[in-house]
Amino acid sequence: MYDTIIIGAGPAGMTAALYAARSNLKVALIEGGLPGGQMNNTSDIENYPGYANISGPELAEKMFEPLENLGVEHLYGFVKNIEDHGDVKKVITDDEEFETRTVIVATGSKHRLLGVPGEEELNSRGVSYCAVCDGAFFRDQDLLVVGGGDSAVEEAIFLTQFAKSVTIVHRRDELRAQKVLQDRAFANGKINFIWDSVVKEIKGENRVESIVIENVKTNQVTEHAFGGVFIYVGLDPVSDFTKDLQIQDESGWIVTDDHMKTSVAGVFAVGDVRQKDLRQVTTAVGDGAIAGQEAYKYITEHS
Ligand SMILES: Cc1cc2nc3c(=O)[nH]c(=O)nc-3n(C[C@H](O)[C@H](O)[C@H](O)COP(=O)(O)OP(=O)(O)OC[C@H]3O[C@@H](n4cnc5c(N)ncnc54)[C@H](O)[C@@H]3O)c2cc1C
Repeated sequence: MYDTIIIGAGPAGMTAALYAARSNLKVALIEGGLPGGQMNNTSDIENYPGYANISGPELAEKMFEPLENLGVEHLYGFVKNIEDHGDVKKVITDDEEFETRTVIVATGSKHRLLGVPGEEELNSRGVSYCAVCDGAFFRDQDLLVVGGGDSAVEEAIFLTQFAKSVTIVHRRDELRAQKVLQDRAFANGKINFIWDSVVKEIKGENRVESIVIENVKTNQVTEHAFGGVFIYVGLDPVSDFTKDLQIQDESGWIVTDDHMKTSVAGVFAVGDVRQKDLRQVTTAVGDGAIAGQEAYKYITEHS
C-alpha cells in the first residue's frame, strides 16, 4: 500500500513526488514514457527562474535526479483506470494493480491534431509535432510551422538553425505568443508569415511535398512547396483514464480547487491536465508542490 501514487513524471508529477517524499510518504511515480514529460520536447526554456536558458531535457534530468535518493519508486507503465474505494484507491495499469491512499494525476496534455487530409498518412514523413526531436532531419529545407502561440513561435525560431526558411501560418492577423518571442521571430531573416490562413491539406507521395493553404478572409486557396510541417495548434488533456471518477469538465480538463483537490477525496490533479489558464513548467511545479503537501495533510487527517 502506497501513501500516494503520482501518475505522470513531467515537472508537475516530479515536484509532487519531491514534496510528498520529503514529508516521509511512501511514494510511487508511474510514468509511461521518459521522465520529463513535455520538457523532453522543448528546445530552450528561458522562463524558468534561476536559469537564463536551459534545454528541456537537461531541466528534466535535474528534476528527476534527486527523487531516487528520497526513496521515490519509479514504476514504468500506462495507467488505464483509477478506482475509488474510499480510503483505498486502486491504480490500474496495463498489467498491474496498485493500492494507495491518495492519487495525484499529473498526466499533462497532448498536441491537438489539425485533422486535415494527409496529416495522418504523412506523420513522421514530414509531418511533426516536435521540433526538438525531428528538426535536425530537415536541414536546408523550407518548413511550415502551424500556429501562433508560444510553442509555435519558439519552435519556429529553433528550426531556423537547420532550415533554409521557416514560414509560420496563423489563422489570425497577429500572434498570441509572448512579446519577447514575437520580437525575436520578426527580427529573424529566415522566418516568413502567412496571416489569416489555415492548412487545408498536406500533400506528398511518400513524404511531405506541398501544403494547401486557405485564406480565411478571402477564401483564396494556394499550394506551396514545403519539405516539412510542424504543427502547434493547441492541447488536449490526457485524462481519459479518469472518466469513472467524473472529475473532468466537458473538454476533459480536470477540475480542482486551489489545493489541487478534485471532487473525489484523496484524488488530486496537477499541471497541464488541470483546468487552468497558464500551462507552463513554473505553474506545473507550483501545482506539484501544493499537491505533495496536501496529500500529506490528507493522510495525517485520515489516520
Ligand atoms: C514545444 C513545447 C515548448 C514548450 N516551451 C515551454 C517553455 O519554454 N517554458 C515553459 O514553462 N513551458 C513550456 N512548455 C510547456 C511545458 O512543457 C508544460 O506546461 C509542462 O511540461 C507541463 O507539465 P506536466 O507535468 O503537467 O505535464 P507533462 O510535461 O505533459 O508530463 C506528463 C507526463 O505524464 C505521462 N503520462 C501521460 N499519460 C500517462 C498514463 N496514462 N500513465 C502514465 N504516465 C502517463 C506522460 O508520458 C508525461 O511524461 C512547452 C511545451 C511544448 C510542447
